[in-house]
Amino acid sequence: MTEIKSKIEIGWNFDNSYTRLPELFFTSVNPTPVSSPKLVILNYPLATSLGLNDKVLEKEDGVAIFAGNQIPLGALPIAQAYAGHQFGHFTMLGDGRAVLLGEQITPKGQRVDIQLKGSGKTPYSRGGDGRAALGPMLREYIISEAMHSLGIPTTRSLAVVTTGQRVIRETEQIGAVLTRVAASHIRVGTFQYASRWGSTKELKALADYTLERHFSHIDEDGNPYLALLREVIKGQAALIAKWQLVGFIHGVMNTDNMTISGETIDYGPCAFMDTYDPATVFSSIDINGRYAYGNQPKIAAWNLARFAETLLPLLHDNEDKAVSLAQDTISDFPQLYHNNWIAGMRAKLGIFNEEPEDESLIEELLSIMEKHGADYTNTFRALTFDSRSDMMLFDTTEFAKWHEQWQQRLDRQKESKASSHQLMRDSNPAIIPRNHRVEEALEAAVKYGDYSVMEKLLKALSCPYAHSPEQADYSTLPTKSDQPYRTFCGT
Ligand code: AMP
Ligand code: MG
Repeated sequence: MTEIKSKIEIGWNFDNSYTRLPELFFTSVNPTPVSSPKLVILNYPLATSLGLNDKVLEKEDGVAIFAGNQIPLGALPIAQAYAGHQFGHFTMLGDGRAVLLGEQITPKGQRVDIQLKGSGKTPYSRGGDGRAALGPMLREYIISEAMHSLGIPTTRSLAVVTTGQRVIRETEQIGAVLTRVAASHIRVGTFQYASRWGSTKELKALADYTLERHFSHIDEDGNPYLALLREVIKGQAALIAKWQLVGFIHGVMNTDNMTISGETIDYGPCAFMDTYDPATVFSSIDINGRYAYGNQPKIAAWNLARFAETLLPLLHDNEDKAVSLAQDTISDFPQLYHNNWIAGMRAKLGIFNEEPEDESLIEELLSIMEKHGADYTNTFRALTFDSRSDMMLFDTTEFAKWHEQWQQRLDRQKESKASSHQLMRDSNPAIIPRNHRVEEALEAAVKYGDYSVMEKLLKALSCPYAHSPEQADYSTLPTKSDQPYRTFCGT
């Protein structure tokens, strides 16, 4: 390891609370240095909000840190241990190609993980090379930042550097490291790991740590671990509803890819749905459609049940009582999810108040969209702007009938049509990271070293509710040759 930069110059303000957990939970390991790192993208606004000096970060010293060639002052690099159910099968995992540098305390006093992804082998690599390719890391950058701008809790992307080294996948690819920022990297799988391989004391240490780090504000009501379960369920219910409302498909909702903080994490074979169809699957490895769009809420509930199981020894000394407490709490998920979803759907349709028939109004629209293969995002955009001419769906008699009912529904509320229109503008994105546009940006960057397409896309994605003229270009649908779109695991 070469020279370490001073904390004042870059603004690092690390604490390493995770390293104060029992040793079971991590292994100290440095990133593996690379031959010739080069910065390809830096998230300037994010750097500033973290209290970091972007002028230094974009130069050699910053790039050396993003590549894992230097350790920032105050960082204590570790790989985190975790397990997980992958496509339903329980496995020991851990950070196989990531290193947590530490927790940056931001100028606003927030604690966020700074993690290098693709930074070399760790004790959890299980035969993998510990590395990442440029395409998937840029893909995570684009989609995570788009999610953030859409108002969806997510890990963020601070920078991507190329390593100067090749990684071997199906073909030889350009090696890269992504710097990821997260509220924390504690996963359902971290609890599963503690539950399977730790003592109750170690499990409790993790639960107490998580409570303090993420839920210190909540009313524990005498049983802090039940409160933990409740809060995680609440966070996931809100998160998954937000995914459904924008048509986001995670692709690998394994328990190791579900955070306790309620942030979206691990952008592998994820994608946004074009045509509305609940059975949509993009991931090439999801043969049975386990993680299809329409299944995401059910899978979230399944993952949360696995989380609840890990907490049983902490919930009550009596096992039966612990199980019944867990079951009662878990059974709230479908309703919580539904409340979030329907509130979001009402907003998408410009509805302010609640009527019992709203659900059937919404379902009716979705079923017409499904029947006619309508584009999910563009349908809501067209409804927002009453620009009905450009979609086949709108010529149908079913739609005309639905539209009349919807107008009557809007007339029954006291808010003006103008307020409804504003609510719809704020709730229906003009732009999502459509697969063919993401691929186009990645191809320019990876194949030709041209980052301008990606930068233009990122700019358009940064204000998804602006409905600006430049964004109109991004609402065009993929041609038939772009379909069916398939995504591959980000390895
Ligand atoms: P992911 O599909 O990115 O969620 O990763 C699942 C597990 O595989 C995690 O434990 C990763 O750390 C590990 N993993 C993925 N790619 C690699 C790699 N190239 N080398 C080592 N471990 C990896
Ligand atoms: Mg993962």
